Amino acid sequence: MISELSGKLFIGGGWKTGVGARIAVLNPATGESIGEIAASTADEINEAVAAARAAFRGWADLPAKARSGALHRLGDAIAADADGMARIMTMEQGKPLNEARGEILKLAEACHFYAEEAVRVHGEIVPGDTTDHHSLVIREPIGVVGAITPWNYPAELVGWKLCASLAAGCTIVIKPADLTPFTALAIARKVEEAKIPAGVVNVITGPGSVVGQALVEHPGVDKIAFTGSSSVGLRIQQSATTVKRMSLELGGNCPMIVTESADLDAAVKGAVRRSFRNMGQICIAINRVYVARPIYEAFLAKVKVAAEALTIGNGLDKPDADLGAMASADPLAKTKEHLGDALAKGARLVTGGAAPEGEAFARGHFFRPTVVADCTHAMKVMSEETFGPLLGVAPYDGLDEAIARANDTPYGLASYVYAKDMDEVRYLTTRLDYGNVAVNNVDAGVMNAPYGGRKQSGVGYEHGREGMLEYFNFKHIRIRHDEPKGR
Ligand code: NDP
Repeated sequence: MISELSGKLFIGGGWKTGVGARIAVLNPATGESIGEIAASTADEINEAVAAARAAFRGWADLPAKARSGALHRLGDAIAADADGMARIMTMEQGKPLNEARGEILKLAEACHFYAEEAVRVHGEIVPGDTTDHHSLVIREPIGVVGAITPWNYPAELVGWKLCASLAAGCTIVIKPADLTPFTALAIARKVEEAKIPAGVVNVITGPGSVVGQALVEHPGVDKIAFTGSSSVGLRIQQSATTVKRMSLELGGNCPMIVTESADLDAAVKGAVRRSFRNMGQICIAINRVYVARPIYEAFLAKVKVAAEALTIGNGLDKPDADLGAMASADPLAKTKEHLGDALAKGARLVTGGAAPEGEAFARGHFFRPTVVADCTHAMKVMSEETFGPLLGVAPYDGLDEAIARANDTPYGLASYVYAKDMDEVRYLTTRLDYGNVAVNNVDAGVMNAPYGGRKQSGVGYEHGREGMLEYFNFKHIRIRHDEPKGR
């Protein structure tokens, strides 16, 4: 399947062999090349935007039920090929096959969720400011969306933008990350199978600084839907050459607070899952934990055991491993840098700190889940986004101290609380300056509720009804009525 997608672009409902330079795509578990992508040229980018523009009016004017049906068909096509698509994802991203399959099924779920939302796009009738006027407020699709996505969740992060756009009546040009382009191209295959009209969905490939940037600056693109690092998000916001709508889902440095009333085992399980899953390459990964001092050492002892119990392997050979390879050399290097920084500044190594040993790990980007204790905010692990399997832990002496430390970051994506005392829960959840707060669970992002960051973690929302609102303009229609003749 990957060989069929190698060097291809999906534009105007058809597959083209890109004419631009080739970029190799590597399997991060082995270092082997699995295929190559084409760096889209300026002509190809223009062609994709023009195809999306040409398809827009027809797609927007379809009855909502027709767009809904198309999204249901897309969800079915994706779910039916979950195994094949998961294989592609594991080969390019490194996560274990079972986890990749779970992500593909969540993409299918997003298709069905927004298929249902598509038929519930309501407006409002607003009472007039005078008795002879009334106002209609209706929602209209923005137009052509440029979607730019990262490599950590190559299916879902494309899917949220794709599904909400299509449900709203927008058309889309997708530029996936160079590290994980084949999942997006495989989604385009399913778009074809679902018989979504030509030009409604287009996928182009190539380096973000060139191809992504061209979408940002393109006058034919009405909205940019971006997920990625805060630095690139800021650059995108600053470099648009025309006014356009933007949603920016950016980086995080997510805290967890464990109070004395918490179920300690549940807190440990949650911390280990949300810190190390996908090798910590999650925007809402728990990066740092603040634990009430009386239970601090007990927490560390249990976290050590739980982290050491996680299995690591080549995700293709060991589909049910807990962890696979990291996606590339860069996040691994950053993890080592943050670990070195913490140890140099006095942190205590609780577990991990090195790559797993053995021939199976010799050529891939592997690292053991690592926990450091007694951390301070002078350490990068407690203030910067590591995006790797490194967790910093520190004790606290009062809730206000925990809150102040948790909020001491330029980010505001997700935070986590483990506490049984409802007074503590209320106090903490109202004071944590984050777009998402998960209490006694670690699933801060679910399909039916808005998901978005504050501060340097971005603007706008994905998921839920709010996620779809990002793809609409409101139109106010103010109507004056005369007294009917011959009344
Ligand atoms: P990057 O910001 O490096 O890249 C994201 C995407 O932007 C890629 O497709 C990249 O292309 C492209 N890109 C790079 N430069 C430009 C540019 N100048 N103009 C337009 N597009 C550009 O992020 P990563 O891929 O490294 O992803 C990790 C980051 O994503 C982390 O910070 C993480 O927190 C964040 N993230 C946020 C989420 C959220 O919901 N808030 C969810 C998941 C991840 P290419 O790579 O091909 O060069």
